[in-house]
Formats: sequence, C-alpha cells, structure tokens
Amino acid sequence: MGNSDISERDRKVTWHPFTHQKEAAYPLNIVKGEGVYLFDESGNKYIDAFSSWWVNLHGHANPYIAEKIYEQAKTLEQVAFSDFTHAPAVMLAERLLSHLPTNQSRIFYSDNGSTSVEVALKMAIQYQHNIGTPKKKIIAFENGYHGDTFGSMSVAERNVFNNPFAPFLFEVQLIPAPIKGMEKTSLGQFDHALKSEDVCAFIYEPLIQGAGGMVMYEPETLEKILKLCKAHKCITIADEVMTGFGRTGKFWASNYMNTKPDIICLSKGITGGFMPLGITSCAGFIYDAFVSDDKTKTFYHGHSYTANPLACAAANASLDLLEKHELFEHVQFIASFFERMKKKYQNHPAIIDCRNRGAIFAMELKTEERTHYLNQVGRKISSFFLKKGIIVRPLGNILYFIPPYVINQAQLEELEKCTDEMLSLLPNL
Ligand SMILES: *Cc1c(COP(=O)(O)O)cnc(C)c1O
Repeated sequence: MGNSDISERDRKVTWHPFTHQKEAAYPLNIVKGEGVYLFDESGNKYIDAFSSWWVNLHGHANPYIAEKIYEQAKTLEQVAFSDFTHAPAVMLAERLLSHLPTNQSRIFYSDNGSTSVEVALKMAIQYQHNIGTPKKKIIAFENGYHGDTFGSMSVAERNVFNNPFAPFLFEVQLIPAPIKGMEKTSLGQFDHALKSEDVCAFIYEPLIQGAGGMVMYEPETLEKILKLCKAHKCITIADEVMTGFGRTGKFWASNYMNTKPDIICLSKGITGGFMPLGITSCAGFIYDAFVSDDKTKTFYHGHSYTANPLACAAANASLDLLEKHELFEHVQFIASFFERMKKKYQNHPAIIDCRNRGAIFAMELKTEERTHYLNQVGRKISSFFLKKGIIVRPLGNILYFIPPYVINQAQLEELEKCTDEMLSLLPNL
C-alpha cells in the first residue's frame, strides 16, 4: 500500500517499540494529522481511537498549540535548568500546582512517564534516608505498569515484558488491586504489610490500571489504603501518567478520593500530545527534607532536557484549552456515550467484561487462547478496525477506546458501529 517507499525503508533501519519485529506488518506511513484523524500517504483517513498511545487530548496538529510551540522555538528553545530558569517552566509549575491537590507544593521536571516514576521513587527513598529512617520495602499493585526503565519496571508486575531483566530488578511487595471482589483481600494485605517498619512507599495507578488491560476499580478501598499508608508514614505515589488531565472525567483520578497522595507522576497528555515531558510533584514535607545545610541531602537527579521550554510551552497551551469549561462538558458527553455502550454490550455472549470511566471504554473478549497480552485476537481486531478507518491497539483480548477529547458524536457512533460488526463476526474475525 502507499505510493512512497517510506514503510519499506523503515523496515531496514528502525526498531519499533513493543513490536515483534519478525511478524510485524509494514508500518503504516502517516503523513498528516488533523483533529481526531490521522492520514496515511494514500490519503486514507483514520479515527485515532487510542490517542496515539494515550497522549493526544485536543486533536492532532492542534493549530493553537502548534503556534505556541513555534513562538517559543523562535525565542528560546532550550537552556540548562540547573542555574537558570525561564517563564514557561515557572508558569507551568504555578498553573499545575493550582490544579493539583492542595498538598502538592513543588514540581520536578523530566522527560516522560517512566522518568517521572523514577524521580518519584528516588524522592521517596531519599526522603526516608534524609529524615534518618531509611527503609527498603516498596509496595505496588499486582498487574500494575509504571514504565520501562529499571526502577519503573521493578515496581510493576513481573511478566513477559520484563522477564529477561527480572534478576536485575529490585524486590517489591505486590498486593492485589482492590478490583471487584478483591477489596477485602487487598485491604487486609496492606494492613499486614504496613505493620513492618520497613515500608518506604506505595506506588499505584489510581482507579485504572492502563497497560494492565484497562482494569478499573472503585475509589472507596483505595481511600482506605491511602489512609492506612499515611498512618504508617508510608509515602504514597499516584502514577497519573495515563489518568491525568481529565481522562477519568475529573482533572485527576486522585480527585475521586479525599486522601491525597504525597507524590504525583504526570506525563502523556501533559503537552496535549505534542512534546515529551514528565513531571513529578510532591508535598511540602517531602521537599523540606531535601533542603538542608548538609549537601548530602541534595536530590542529585536531572536530565539534559529538564523543563525544555518548547515542551513547557506546549503544556501551557494545552492547559489553556483544558481550562475552558466546555472541554470538561464534552468529556462528560464522551463519558455518557461510553456508559451507554457499556450497558448495551455488558451481557453480550462474546464479552467477559465491559467497563468505562470518563473518556475511557474497555471490553474484554472471550477467546479460546488464554494468554492475555500475546493473544492473537488483538492483531485481528486492530486490522479489522483499520480497514474501517479506525485505529485501535488492543491489549491482547482487551479492546479499548481512549479517543482525543475532540471526538464528536458521529465519530463515536462510528466506533460503536465497527464494534457491533466486529462482535457479529467473532470468533471468525
Ligand atoms: C505509559 C505509562 C507510563 C510510562 O510512560 P512513558 O512515557 O511511556 O515512559 C508510566 N505509568 C503509566 C501509568 C503509564 O500509563
């Protein structure tokens, strides 16, 4: 397909992420984005129903954000963020803090979701060290995902993705997430684990475990877990890399709970999907433990591109758009569309479970194959949808939609129609 040889040349020189290079089809050459659509070199257009890996919020090539990046690029493209500062970074920090839970007081910049998690873990560990109570144990949820660097892999479920590195990962205690039916077990295991003096921190994806299969749980038990952690001086780290910036219907998933996390990780949607940027925010008491005459208490961590002005300009522009109240009304509209879809599909014989929260919808399909991630049905579903002009990237047998917020009713109806067709063809897709 296509009329240039880009896809062909790609096969000879690049190495794609999370891609089985041997079986991979020729990657589609995308030449343009506009609103909810991506266009390939043959002029076919596709609804981007997975927001290009959950990053896009306001549609592709949004002219307002593009303009703000261009203006910034002409003025100041980069400066080291050690002895220097600049308005885009300071404004962004002020604005984020005005939206974040009120206990958050400092913004630390990095480059992506994985680094925002690395920073959070290092902050928590060094915090305990700095206050004279070094602790070793970190708790995470089973089936969690926090990124692909060594620290972030360590705090995730051990699986096929990180198996070769297992001997190099630090030990964590994994506790079941409080999904339906597991609330008591989860809470009980926390109660037990936190009796140890050695618990340093707990990291979690609030309400939705994204890469783990868009697995969802309710706020009530998480609230109790967070309270327990606080009572035991265990640092709580909310990984809002996927759930931030309105995805769950509220600005942060953490807003569904009254107990606020000590540290929050942000990335993905932060720049509206334009530039890589990671953020770790923390509560004042954590920051204070690093401010001392004793230089060994310094946080010795940083990246060359820390607080890149172009990324900060994109994030500020995205916030301008997010702060318009119509935007959250539209997210509510998407949420109610998905709620209706869930009700329609939940008793379908081909479906194990259907779930939704905010602008996220997921369905788990019954298949003969029992494996989750490597389930072949995912490939079949994505090529079926692609032929119908929709881009999805199922997690094995879990099909999900996480569209840019600009998606309209007619486009949502296209997703629904294609889902109907797919379900009517299963298992012979
Ligand atoms: C995607 C993701 C990450 C990793 O972010 P990258 O930018 O891909 O490194 C971390 N945590 C969660 C919850 C994610 O969904």
